[in-house]
Amino acid sequence: MKRIYFYLKNYRLKTIMAPVFKCLEAVFELLVPMAVAKMIDLGIGRGDTSYILKMGAVLLILAFIGIVCSLTAQWFAASSASIAATGLRNDLLKHILSLDYSEIDKYGTDRFLTSMTLDVNQVQNGINMFLRLFMRSPFVVFGAAIMAFQIDKKMSLIFFVTILILTIIVFGILLGTVPLYKKVQLWQDRIIGLSKEQITGSRVIRAFNREKKCCEEFAEDNRRLTAMQIFVSKISAVMNPVTALVLNAAIIVLIWRGAIFIDFGTLSKGNLVALINYMGQILVELVKFANLIILISKAVASDRRIEEIFSYTNNTDESHLNSSKENVKKIKENSLIKLENVDFYYPEAKEPALSNINLEINKEEHIGIIGGTGSGKSTLAKLIAGLYMPSSGYISYNDNLKENYEKPVTMVPQKAVMFEGSVRENIVMGKAVSEELIEFSLKVSQSKEFVESFDDSLMHHIEQGGRNLSGGQKQRLGIARGLCMNSPVLVLDDPASALDFATERKLREELTSFAEEKELTLIVISQRAAMVKNMDKIIVMNDGMIEAIGSHDKLIHENELYREIFLSQQKEMEVAP
Ligand code: ADP
Ligand code: MG
Repeated sequence: MKRIYFYLKNYRLKTIMAPVFKCLEAVFELLVPMAVAKMIDLGIGRGDTSYILKMGAVLLILAFIGIVCSLTAQWFAASSASIAATGLRNDLLKHILSLDYSEIDKYGTDRFLTSMTLDVNQVQNGINMFLRLFMRSPFVVFGAAIMAFQIDKKMSLIFFVTILILTIIVFGILLGTVPLYKKVQLWQDRIIGLSKEQITGSRVIRAFNREKKCCEEFAEDNRRLTAMQIFVSKISAVMNPVTALVLNAAIIVLIWRGAIFIDFGTLSKGNLVALINYMGQILVELVKFANLIILISKAVASDRRIEEIFSYTNNTDESHLNSSKENVKKIKENSLIKLENVDFYYPEAKEPALSNINLEINKEEHIGIIGGTGSGKSTLAKLIAGLYMPSSGYISYNDNLKENYEKPVTMVPQKAVMFEGSVRENIVMGKAVSEELIEFSLKVSQSKEFVESFDDSLMHHIEQGGRNLSGGQKQRLGIARGLCMNSPVLVLDDPASALDFATERKLREELTSFAEEKELTLIVISQRAAMVKNMDKIIVMNDGMIEAIGSHDKLIHENELYREIFLSQQKEMEVAP
């Protein structure tokens, strides 16, 4: 709530104008019954046609001014609400992007997605309706009661009793339904999550013939949501007939008492009609107000979920996360990065993904990391790239590295993420990169050929998520992107996983000469021995630990795991065309 106030602070006038114009509209609405009363008493009563026409014109003018006020108010309310929503969305994205990997892992991207879209919309809707109604509705209720009091003090007693009864009914029903609406919202979230999972996974679901089972589960959850919604609606549905009953009863009493007063000559016919009109206005506003409260309670719940995300901060005192990048120690000049006794646990994981890692990475060294799936290769790469902090132990960076480079380590993840835009935009990622380096990167990453095959080559449009590219194309553009980052340390996570052997070999050769030319420190992860065979140093990972470090020649003799991997793959390559 504080945040929303902050966004609207600079737009105070707009924000205040919405309720002001809504109240102005209400003033004109409250005048309408009075004009009608005059028309009846002075026009119809006396058969004065010109007076009737005159009051008719007055009514038209009142209606016109009312509409103008209402439109103005709604414009102000809608623009204030969208200003707040825009601010909220921007800050939310900024905050989410500032979270480190482990925080994002912990809460899941779905949670962020729902808040960015649905919750922000809900808040926007709440602000909009709040500005329109929070002053108007009480204003009309009290205004109508006061007008009634002006017309006839004795009759106004009926008003106060009716308002009291209606308020009790409306708010009583509200009390019962608001918690239920919250429950409905929880189920809606669930359905949204489920829909997303099943739609994004639809190919897998179909491939494994799980359509029927998934549809059944989905239908069951849907059925429960519907049942709950119907239940809440049934309670809400009571509101209309019950309030209408009270209203009509009040009108009967009004007419009955009014008729007596008219006979006595203390009340005019026109004024009785005005009283009946006011009664109607009060009911309408109370019901609107009740709906406003439901909307507000939804908006508050959404706001709370948004605030929760803002409260997520990096490295919240997790027992494992007691070390940070700040633990920089002096390391000797030619050593760039040093890991000492590093353990790493993923959030909420019981087993460590990495344990007791000791590793020294030297300047311009070419390092290969090899190991089976799940052995911790990617995790090690992410730690080296500074995307995760060690849970215990130290990771130290050479002072030179930190001081002289904006981005000391660039990591090219296993799965390349592409954004909507041109090939060029996807490679440079908003950085100023020379054409020469772009060309070079395309060549090294083996992208040149396929990019040039597009009519508009570098300007070729990539669709959202890169869905008009193949897996191998995305992977190669991801590598090109990494090469353009100008970092002295480059980490490539399984860069050839989607490439054929021939392309892999070319990539390996060009990558090595690129690193030599640019004096880079190169770290390449792979499942294939051929990819890392010629590196200065090969790290063999097994079950989160470093099993061996050494050159190919050393490992082939001394490490059984490495030998096994190498020999089995050599056979594979011989078989391959
Ligand atoms: P590799 O790259 O060698 O295949 P990873 O480093 O990806 O292995 O994974 C190492 C271990 O950490 C595995 O047991 C895996 O299940 C676990 N792991 C990987 N990513 C996550 C994550 N985001 N959250 C929890 N556990 C993870
Ligand atoms: Mg991996």
